[in-house]
Amino acid sequence: MKLALFGADGKVGAALRPVLERAGHEVKGIEIGDEPVVRGLDACVDFTTPDAAPVNARAALEQGVSCVVGTTGWDPQPLHELAAANGVRLFVAPNFSIGAVLMMRFAREAAAYFPRAEVIELHNEAKKDAPSGTARATAELIGGDTVVHSVRLPGLVAHQEVIFGSEGQLLTIRHDTTGRESFAEGVLLVLEKLDTLPPGLTVGLEAIL
Ligand code: NAP
Repeated sequence: MKLALFGADGKVGAALRPVLERAGHEVKGIEIGDEPVVRGLDACVDFTTPDAAPVNARAALEQGVSCVVGTTGWDPQPLHELAAANGVRLFVAPNFSIGAVLMMRFAREAAAYFPRAEVIELHNEAKKDAPSGTARATAELIGGDTVVHSVRLPGLVAHQEVIFGSEGQLLTIRHDTTGRESFAEGVLLVLEKLDTLPPGLTVGLEAIL
């Protein structure tokens, strides 16, 4: 596919680009300050900031190009109508790592058997939003008043623990992202399935797994 990559020089963008190219995609990198001209391309991918992502996604959708967004900390719902009206897709996932999506699925299953749970998400200190999109989505799946704790430290990539507690037992479900290539695998999968999704907004990798 012919792709635009918003945030190509960022930490995720820089890891993602070679993987996309190795998979046979042609990638046009778009950085801050570049005009978001994407008309005629097959899709856009965005790993930028919570302020930039809605602007980039709107520009892509207005030009009739589907957009796959990994940036967290923004609300894509207002762009659903625009994507649907233009017959294109806006795919947003708080986590493109397949292991993390499975961690959320197992947490939802465990929630039926435990009265209380807390989520601890740990990310590199450069991450701008807290709590992470994955932690918020996990807490919603578990339901109740699930508390989320955020840790930001150098040396971390992206990690999450869900601890379930009841009298006399604890269950911990943990996922560790050790390299940003794990997100690329999910992005490739979404690009492959993009045309099979209905026009408009789709949220979450679980929608295509
Ligand atoms: P990062 O290293 O800060 O990279 C962001 C990049 O976007 C930077 O190169 C930045 O440029 C650029 N940028 C900012 N505004 C832009 C604009 N208007 N147009 C184009 N590029 C722009 O951050 P990261 O670690 O790669 O993460 C990016 C986002 O992805 C964050 O929201 C993070 O939470 C999210 N994320 C999601 C997943 C997932 O699986 N869904 C996984 C990892 C990360 P400057 O440096 O010049 O400002």
